[in-house]
Amino acid sequence: MFDKILIANRGEIACRIIRTARRLGIRTVAVYSDADAGAMHVSMADEACRLGPAEAKQSYLRPELILEAALASGCQAVHPGYGFLSENAEFAEACAAAGIVFIGPPAEAIRAMGSKSAAKRIMENAVVPLVPGYHGEDQDPAFLREAAGGIGYPVLIKATAGGGGKGMRVVWEAQAFDDALAGAKREASASFGDDRVLLEKYLTRPRHVEIQVFADGLGNAIHLFERDCSIQRRHQKVLEEAPAPGMKDWLRERMGGAAVAAAKAIGYVGAGTVEFLLDEDGSFYFMEMNTRLQVEHPVTEMITGQDLVEWQLKVAAGAPLPCRQEDLAVCGHAIEARIYAEDPLRDFLPATGELTHLRTPQESAHVRIDTGVRQGDRVSIHYDPMIAKLIVWDTDRAGAVRRLRAALADYQVVGVTTNIGFLAQVAANPAFAAGELDTGFIERHRATLFPEAQPASDRVLALACLDVLLRRSAEAAAAAAACADRWSPWHLTTGWQVNGDNHHVLLFRDGEQSVAVTAHYRPDGYQLDLSGGPMLVRGKLDEAGDLLADLGGMRVKASVVRHGDDLTIVTHGSSHRLTLHDPLAHLGQQEGAGGSLTAPMPGKIVALLVEAGARVERGAPLLIMEAMKMEHTITAPRDGVVAEVFYRPGEVVNDGAILLAFAEEGERVTT
Ligand code: ADP
Repeated sequence: MFDKILIANRGEIACRIIRTARRLGIRTVAVYSDADAGAMHVSMADEACRLGPAEAKQSYLRPELILEAALASGCQAVHPGYGFLSENAEFAEACAAAGIVFIGPPAEAIRAMGSKSAAKRIMENAVVPLVPGYHGEDQDPAFLREAAGGIGYPVLIKATAGGGGKGMRVVWEAQAFDDALAGAKREASASFGDDRVLLEKYLTRPRHVEIQVFADGLGNAIHLFERDCSIQRRHQKVLEEAPAPGMKDWLRERMGGAAVAAAKAIGYVGAGTVEFLLDEDGSFYFMEMNTRLQVEHPVTEMITGQDLVEWQLKVAAGAPLPCRQEDLAVCGHAIEARIYAEDPLRDFLPATGELTHLRTPQESAHVRIDTGVRQGDRVSIHYDPMIAKLIVWDTDRAGAVRRLRAALADYQVVGVTTNIGFLAQVAANPAFAAGELDTGFIERHRATLFPEAQPASDRVLALACLDVLLRRSAEAAAAAAACADRWSPWHLTTGWQVNGDNHHVLLFRDGEQSVAVTAHYRPDGYQLDLSGGPMLVRGKLDEAGDLLADLGGMRVKASVVRHGDDLTIVTHGSSHRLTLHDPLAHLGQQEGAGGSLTAPMPGKIVALLVEAGARVERGAPLLIMEAMKMEHTITAPRDGVVAEVFYRPGEVVNDGAILLAFAEEGERVTT
């Protein structure tokens, strides 16, 4: 076994590999770009080596820099993870030439599977079933149109060098073929520098079922059952599970056998995945082979109890496979959800930003989280915007689906838009629960999976109000404790005020709408006037900052994450953003040294708490103003003297009116 390996990757997969290496007593060297200098994988590894600027082409995709780092740090092997250089045959060869083990298949196997058409020819010879189609060399458009007619519409055009769904076009009728072909070729050429395409019969309701294979250098090859990755958007995986729902033993045996035959046909070594389309009638067809560890490998680990990275390391070190086919069995059911920084409502547009708040569900035997980010990290434009993989396991699929829903409800991300709400909708869909999966699932259930943004519910508003009121109360208590006259009525946050009525109006912006909620102070909490009627709310903030609320007798735990005036209310897997409209809140801090305090909007002076000449401490309340139904206490921006007061209680002031002149001790006051 190796003593030290370099991980030529980043994010969750780098962290996941480091975990296994550490368990096996193998030292690890991470590599990083400038954008990742403070990243989780860097801090987890024993050593880390800078590669270059943020852009992948200048860092993670530079084989020579990675090899240099491996040699300089005394590594015996390099694990490429997935993506980046993991399927780069030249890199595998360069590693071998430098005397470093590439933890992956031989370069020839990578090459053989690198072209979808070449792979199909090899599989055809190995008698692995293929989707009817054309994967030859002739790229003449007229010939291809003819071939498409022979296959029968609908037809799928695929880039030979394809990946990530690029250069792929479904053609439903002959008239549309030429345009689709031109489009696919343009995209293929732009993405892969190779415009060759192949044609396949387009199956209208297939499932994506793939087989995990493993082979060692001694001629043994086995499979670790299947994964169903049918829940896809734009031909990219969203949820993956193992085993495939409804999979029959005889079919598993046949698909597994075909996959092992495929691996053997190319002299495969290491972890690989053979992807199939499974048609409604039980026929299955080879699609492609991925010659690396897949993103979704954890679901296989959860149902087999094996650690596939450990297997990779052992096999790469020359050991035989850790077990035989007959030693393996499917135990329970696992589902993986890919949590991405992306906006499902904007066609899954990747999102970037800082993860200002990040809470994950509790990890256990049922819940596993593979991630490479922590709260405070940034999701940048440079790499895949995956935040984490959430993997759940239970003894059966119904249990796993239930755990998936619960875990998604407990996953809190604020700061970047994510697909968590969308994943929760899929997990809650009755057809998903019934295991009715196929690659058209998301399209077919579009209406229920992409709900329009809803206005804040009474419950969300109640939580927001309670959070605001509790925080104000805590701040006032802290200010009172720090102030000389701690019994002053101005510190009270019970709504007591000079003009009598003990209520407070909180104004929020909710998208395009403004919502006002009146809070009446009650001895046992606050009564809120909400659209559904009055609600008595009370609660407290716990040490973690979570809000433990009682909403009209219903106990609720929520997180209200503050960012300036923005409040994100996260509860039960949904999050809603509101902006507290509190224009006077920061008035005290906005003022410069000395000078005046002005009214930022028209309003009425409710109470004057100081007279000219008063010496005040920073934060001391000076004047209470009511504007837009809300009261605001204007506080001293710093220690100093109130030089002059321009208004008396009851007077109405205009926007920009100078309310008080304020001076620092000894400063000459000009007004
Ligand atoms: P890529 O390598 O670009 O991801 P794949 O060949 O792996 O492309 O196919 C991606 C997805 O496209 C599959 O999982 C499946 O949903 C869909 N697909 C591919 N080939 C066909 C086909 N012949 N008929 C129907 N759907 C297909």
